[in-house]
Amino acid sequence: DSQLNHNYTFSNFIEGESNRLARAAGRAIAKRPGGTSFNPLFIYGGVGLGKTHLVHAIGLEVKDIHPDKTVLYVSTEKFTQQFIEAVKNNNQNDFIHFYQMIDVLIMDDIQFLSGKAKTQEVFFHIFNHLHQRGNQIILTSDKSPADIQDMEDRLISRFKWGLSADLQNPDYNTRLSILKQKLENDGIEFPDEVMDYIAQNIDTNVRELEGSLNSIIAQATLNKREITLDLTARTLSKLVQTARKEISIDYIQKTVCEYFKVKMEDIQSKTRKRDVVQARQLAMYFAKQYTKASLASIGKQIGKRDHATVLHACKTVKNLQETDKAFRGYIEDISRKIAD
Ligand code: ADP
Ligand code: MG
Repeated sequence: DSQLNHNYTFSNFIEGESNRLARAAGRAIAKRPGGTSFNPLFIYGGVGLGKTHLVHAIGLEVKDIHPDKTVLYVSTEKFTQQFIEAVKNNNQNDFIHFYQMIDVLIMDDIQFLSGKAKTQEVFFHIFNHLHQRGNQIILTSDKSPADIQDMEDRLISRFKWGLSADLQNPDYNTRLSILKQKLENDGIEFPDEVMDYIAQNIDTNVRELEGSLNSIIAQATLNKREITLDLTARTLSKLVQTARKEISIDYIQKTVCEYFKVKMEDIQSKTRKRDVVQARQLAMYFAKQYTKASLASIGKQIGKRDHATVLHACKTVKNLQETDKAFRGYIEDISRKIAD
């Protein structure tokens, strides 16, 4: 069983500027798996942009054109779990052999290998074997190969052997086409002005686009109302509000602490150790960004400081963000974690 999801096809994957390269490469691979220079195909991009959908579509099309080829879709988490099991049961060789037999191996969310040295090593051997035999490897990740942390260099360099293609946020026209297709599938019609409003306002990713459609339909059904611009605007603004409300200062502190491997108690203490000061300042900065709390209230909750300290922290972070590339990377990583 190839573990492919039959709902994720090319025919319902809307093409746009944001996915053109990755989609075209995927189609080329489906025609000639292992026979193009796109090996591996490395597809990367943020959550909800269509990575999983696209790789299923490639797998399904391979099966269509080449029924004799074996295709396997596996999440990196599942791969890791299977490997751990194999080690426990002392049948690592069977595990490796199983993966080395596959013609088209699709591994989703490869960034989850980061920090897992043993699993990286076994994947390295499987990768080499498949690649040498001209079998196709397709990988997805939330970051580009260069930006993945805690991954062996020899793996990173192999990720770059073929083609890396990113999925970007869809533009307005693509968003509109995606909305139209989803509604058509569900047999529902929305007024044009409503479609336009959603496509204008939900500009993050496709998953949120789908989520907002569902919320609007639910609102209309619950209240036995027509789908109007007014109902849409109110539903969307509520969605945005709850998304913002869920981010608490406590959550921000935890996220920053986890990222820098600093203890919560340290942030709350008076210590002036460099890494703790940096974590504390970043927590203050993100609290200002993501919550409506006042400077005074942020200071009170993060280490019992006054509002001037918080203001100073925000300025320091902004300065470093402009001058220090590594620091900018931290901020991006943490933002992503907080927003997730
Ligand atoms: P990712 O794996 O990048 O987090 P998914 O593949 O799970 O994203 O996509 C999220 C949702 O958006 C899925 O329901 C998927 O079908 C839909 N989607 C993403 N891109 C497109 C597209 N170009 N056309 C149609 N639907 C899309
Ligand atoms: Mg995915």
